[in-house]
Amino acid sequence: MISQEVHRLGAFSSILDPSANAPAFKDADRKIVASFNDRVALRKLAQETNLLSYEFENIPAEILQELESDYEIPQGVQPLLDSQDRLREKENARNNGLKTTEYIAIEPNDQESLRQAIDKFGYPAILKTRTLGYDGHGQVIIKKESDLPKTKDLLQVPCILEKFLNFDYECSLILVRSVQTTIHFPIAQNIHKDGILDLSIVPCPHLSEALNNRIINDCSKFMERCGYYGILAIELFVKGEDYYFNEMAPRPHNSGHYTMDGCSTNQFRELSRFLLGQELETPKLIVPTIMKNILGEDLESLNDLPKNENISIHLYGKEERRPKRKMGHINFLNLTLEDYHKYYAKYFKN
Ligand code: ADP
Ligand code: MG
Repeated sequence: MISQEVHRLGAFSSILDPSANAPAFKDADRKIVASFNDRVALRKLAQETNLLSYEFENIPAEILQELESDYEIPQGVQPLLDSQDRLREKENARNNGLKTTEYIAIEPNDQESLRQAIDKFGYPAILKTRTLGYDGHGQVIIKKESDLPKTKDLLQVPCILEKFLNFDYECSLILVRSVQTTIHFPIAQNIHKDGILDLSIVPCPHLSEALNNRIINDCSKFMERCGYYGILAIELFVKGEDYYFNEMAPRPHNSGHYTMDGCSTNQFRELSRFLLGQELETPKLIVPTIMKNILGEDLESLNDLPKNENISIHLYGKEERRPKRKMGHINFLNLTLEDYHKYYAKYFKN
């Protein structure tokens, strides 16, 4: 999707991906099949391009740091580094003006500290791996004492224990910052199912104008204070008129896929404009949008969906289909949440 926008803006793209049939290669002008920690391959990518960007968090930051002295990486390595470790990520958020839920770092296999932390926070609490977690993978909810044995596998690696927040809802904000300006997309409400994003709803239904403005203001300042440039997606929990930083990603975000149909410009285009040094456009919501993720098990349901201009289907072209794997998304335009639920009951089998 970044390549498609880059082309529209008059540039070319080279993509590095470990999988020979990565969907991103379909729109790439050049491709390199190599692992993300292949120093030689990453250097080759840097040599054949004018600038480097990333849209995956777990690229070894130290390799990019080596490249940074010789090649241009407009987003820098810092936002990537800060987002790769949940402990660092949350400390950084707190140090730069954003509140988080309470958390404590737990060393590998340190069941004693885990117990003490639970005594402090109470049940339920969530144990999360510090690195490499996504879509609810790498976390366990501890609801009661008898759940403790379930943490054994996870606690082979460094973790954090988080106090469970009984939030009203979750939302996310996507910002793009250039030297001249910071733009943002409308805040989406996010609904997760089994730890995986299911729906993003825009406009965010219960968000007051005052809180909306406060979030945008604080998160823009956060980017400035951290010295981040480029795109940043921030996931938040909302409780009453309070909000808490959960996590961030310095790349286009699943909860921003609604912008492809719902906004005057989308997250991939504004990232591309930033990378190419072009002026950013202030995004406007043109139509209320509900984005639904399509997982492996949902693909059949697509055949039955009515075809009309208010249902925009995006498939990613992933060759292997698996249950719970994100295969694409649908943007439902101008549909009330109530009507969405009717569609869901009628057309979706899962
Ligand atoms: P990832 O998206 O990387 O899997 P998250 O930290 O975003 O990890 O957690 C996934 C989901 O689990 C969140 O979107 C939220 O629904 C729930 N969750 C995570 N942390 C908490 C918490 N402290 N309190 C309540 N729910 C949480
Ligand atoms: Mg998340």
